[in-house]
Amino acid sequence: MTLSPIVDSIRKIVRGEVLEREPLAKHTSYRIGGPALALVYPMDVEDACAVIEASRRAGARVIVLGHGTNVLFCDEGIDAIVMKTTRMRDIRVEGRRVWAQAGASLSRVLQIAMEHGLSGAEFMAGIPGTVGGAVAMNAGTSAGSMASVTRQVTVIESRNGLKVTHLAAEQAGFRYRGTRILDEGMVVTDASLELAQGDAAEIRRRTDELLESRRRTQPLDLPSAGSVFKNPPGCAAGRLIEEAGLKGACRGGAMVSPVHANFIVNTGGATASDVLALVEDVRSRVRERTGIELETEIKIVR
Ligand SMILES: Cc1cc2nc3c(=O)[nH]c(=O)nc-3n(C[C@H](O)[C@H](O)[C@H](O)COP(=O)(O)OP(=O)(O)OC[C@H]3O[C@@H](n4cnc5c(N)ncnc54)[C@H](O)[C@@H]3O)c2cc1C
Repeated sequence: MTLSPIVDSIRKIVRGEVLEREPLAKHTSYRIGGPALALVYPMDVEDACAVIEASRRAGARVIVLGHGTNVLFCDEGIDAIVMKTTRMRDIRVEGRRVWAQAGASLSRVLQIAMEHGLSGAEFMAGIPGTVGGAVAMNAGTSAGSMASVTRQVTVIESRNGLKVTHLAAEQAGFRYRGTRILDEGMVVTDASLELAQGDAAEIRRRTDELLESRRRTQPLDLPSAGSVFKNPPGCAAGRLIEEAGLKGACRGGAMVSPVHANFIVNTGGATASDVLALVEDVRSRVRERTGIELETEIKIVR
């Protein structure tokens, strides 16, 4: 039985699955988050437009979600429709171009690039997100970022009516862990990446090296959303947090990882309130010690 008329109206026009009052903890790497009004899996661009259109007409907010590896949803849940892209996950290779839908995982893109002897995507090794989330966040590491490989992005703009637009990389406004796409609430539906011809064995070696380095330096055995804070100009947030003596600091089930100080891990049963309290503890201790105001990289959705 449908509880909400909004969900009813979405069900009528969307082809993909619609899960009413779906707990978001099941859809985030933190394993945290109360229910959304509904979680919808669009099948393609048209379906994604239909979700946005129907939600808008019903006055409901739409939040787009990939693998949920960079978000913290509040415990009470959110009065919004969550549109999860993971059933839009086709990938095609044409020469040095890799075209991928928003819900394709970065690990699959990297795997396919490797099989075609294409290099440049190795930085994706161990980043657990989707192409859409990664483009929107300009995900990356010191080895590269989405900005360095993305040539074109297809987005749904919804500011003045719905419009599907192709953005050249320069129009996407890539910057450190952000884009114009994120700022303006556009929805990425696919992206075209340009890679370089390389040697498959060398790409494999480099990828393995990066994965091994993550295993050594990151707490991959506990739920997290990766780095919580952006690095301030010229220094690493993790180092500032470690120097403030905060490794191992806890609030409820949330803990500043003793392995990597910029990770707040869920040690079991952590709530969003626990994580947020710890985020504030870290921010104020670092501010008191250094005068630097840490900015969160993770997206907090209330
Ligand atoms: C163990 C671990 C390691 C990590 N390492 C790194 C790292 O090295 N570098 C790094 O940059 N990140 C890292 N992350 C963070 C995260 O994996 C990346 O930011 C990733 O790109 C997020 O993708 P996602 O699909 O999970 O996005 P989500 O978490 O689902 O969403 C993140 C944001 O992007 C928006 N979004 C999602 N999909 C779309 C779309 N299709 N169109 C428009 N907006 C969208 C969401 O609304 C949200 O604001 C790590 C996370 C974990 C858990």
